[in-house]
Amino acid sequence: MSIAIVGAGVGGLTAALSLHAAGRDDILVLEAARELRDVGVGINLPPHAVRELTELGLGDALDGVGVPTKELAYYDPAGQLIWAEPRGLDAGYKWPQYSIHRGTLQRLLADAVRHRLGESSIRIAQRVTGVDAGQGDKILIEAIDQVAERSVSYTADVVIAADGIRSPVRNSLYGSPVPLPSNGWVMYRGVTTSAPFLTGRSMVIIGDETQRVVVYPIADGVLNWLLVRPKDATSQVTELGNWNVPVSTSAIASFVKDYRFDWLDVHRLVASASEAYEYPMADIDPLPRWVFGRCALLGDAAHAMYPFGSNGASQAILDARVLAYELANAANIDDGLRAYEAHRRPVASEVQLANRRQAGDVMARVSTMARRGAHGDAATELQDVERRYKQLAGFDVDALNNRKSWSVSGALPQTA
Ligand SMILES: Cc1cc2nc3c(=O)[nH]c(=O)nc-3n(C[C@H](O)[C@H](O)[C@H](O)COP(=O)(O)OP(=O)(O)OC[C@H]3O[C@@H](n4cnc5c(N)ncnc54)[C@H](O)[C@@H]3O)c2cc1C
Repeated sequence: MSIAIVGAGVGGLTAALSLHAAGRDDILVLEAARELRDVGVGINLPPHAVRELTELGLGDALDGVGVPTKELAYYDPAGQLIWAEPRGLDAGYKWPQYSIHRGTLQRLLADAVRHRLGESSIRIAQRVTGVDAGQGDKILIEAIDQVAERSVSYTADVVIAADGIRSPVRNSLYGSPVPLPSNGWVMYRGVTTSAPFLTGRSMVIIGDETQRVVVYPIADGVLNWLLVRPKDATSQVTELGNWNVPVSTSAIASFVKDYRFDWLDVHRLVASASEAYEYPMADIDPLPRWVFGRCALLGDAAHAMYPFGSNGASQAILDARVLAYELANAANIDDGLRAYEAHRRPVASEVQLANRRQAGDVMARVSTMARRGAHGDAATELQDVERRYKQLAGFDVDALNNRKSWSVSGALPQTA
């Protein structure tokens, strides 16, 4: 069975590794970019994602490049602690939580794919424009070769669309572009060379319902930050779903001019960033369908979500592992793809909706309590929100530690 995966992002590459670990070897990854550069800034991998990558044989490699998060802490805009909880191994998980540069993670996964599946298993500069399932037994994949500047086509028995939030493959399967709704907020994100703060492995969320800042280390001496606030005249970007729009930090540092605490100078962090990007917040509504014949959606193509809750990459990784598991355990490909959708779509849809709530109501409720000086009530509320979120996203500590593995028995992964 030949499998074409469209998109060499976190989801597509993990799908290639998972399918290979489950015994498939006829896999081709088609990627639009002309090279796999270290694009993006930091992302988080909570223990449910780290478990899957560890079971793919990547635990040591990940440990060599990720920062194991020790705690998550919420602060009000005056820099006063509302609530903190341990994370990763410190919270009793069998697997760590890591903060990592997205590009570093993508490179680690791409290296493992090339090592295990062969150098030619990832074909770059192939921008897929659509798929046609009406070509006999095979699916026809239309693409543009970005270097030769000509149309090319591929065929496969199964196509996995892991081509991100704007997914051309998803849009062609749905017959029209799936809308990207926005809540009218903008996310500025960047990285800054800086000394460690708090435990050296803390992730902090500072602010209220009018503006929020998230900071965490992604390497020795490198802090990643996000600044999320309603769109105003500072933001000129109208295109949704483009992660690569640079922004001048001088324009946005004034938003955090009062965020100078003795434990972290957020204003300095933003003002002196080495790179920063602007991203109008966008997601998609939960989709009614992920599988169209032998084409399946995966990762952001299936369930792009607001980046609250550290679960964008993680849910893509879970999709990839479940896809391989269900295909290996089904009587045939069609049953396997249906089982994948039945397993993953309800969960990922709930996470999408929860991330919308985190972006809105939750912060408003908590901030109202904090402003009244009721930090204890705000802490209880946050603790409850986080507990429920972990349950629905798949990283409740006991459930995760005791859940059976999605590795396919008899087809153990090679080490990279
Ligand atoms: C350049 C970039 C930077 C990002 N930066 C951040 C960040 O800083 N913080 C954060 O939280 N999230 C970031 N994200 C999103 C984050 O990586 C995803 O939310 C998450 O990892 C899920 O991954 P995914 O594989 O589903 O999608 P993505 O990571 O978006 O990967 C999709 C892949 O498909 C490729 N692709 C798209 N269209 C086509 C096509 N027509 N044909 C072939 N290939 C195609 C893309 O080039 C990309 O490699 C970024 C995504 C991208 C693409």
